[in-house]
Amino acid sequence: MRSLEHLSNILMHSEYLDKWGNREEELYEKVEEEYPDWKTQDEVFRFVHCQKLRRGEKMEEKKRDYVIIGDCEVNEKGEIIRLDRGWYRQGWVYKNEEAYYTDKSAVCYVPELEDAIYTGQDILDMCNGQPEIADRVFEAIDWEHPSSYLDDQDSDELCQCECGKWYWCYGVNKCPFCGAENPNAANLCD
Ligand SMILES: [Zn+2]
Repeated sequence: MRSLEHLSNILMHSEYLDKWGNREEELYEKVEEEYPDWKTQDEVFRFVHCQKLRRGEKMEEKKRDYVIIGDCEVNEKGEIIRLDRGWYRQGWVYKNEEAYYTDKSAVCYVPELEDAIYTGQDILDMCNGQPEIADRVFEAIDWEHPSSYLDDQDSDELCQCECGKWYWCYGVNKCPFCGAENPNAANLCD
């Protein structure tokens, strides 16, 4: 009997994701063909999505060459005692990837126009507690407040599913957590 774990190992260690990772329909067909006794398409979808996230995280870990822009020091009350912004893509900010990725309580970002400090935990909290949302928001911000960046994501980019989870939904037609249809997926080409 082929178990979930067995399938997991095959997907993790084979070229499945490289080969099929961006062609999910074909991946499902392939999995269903080889594992007719295994699960519904929704379950396969969720599984594959989780594998991709995990694989993404692994790649992240390997390429850690932390970008640190500017300098910032806060006292124990969380007040800024020193702040030097540096130029980063679009604006003058303090941005510290090492702080963000290694210590969620450390200040990792100060936007351009206001001396407001953000820790990794602050960003995670405003991203529904989901690291895969927070990481992308942190990566993207280059002058603005993280909350402004989030506000700018329309429903084509970030779906707040009825199940309570958020997911990056460009080109994705089902919630990876509950399998519900993405209500804004109508304009996908398939
Ligand atoms: Zn959902």
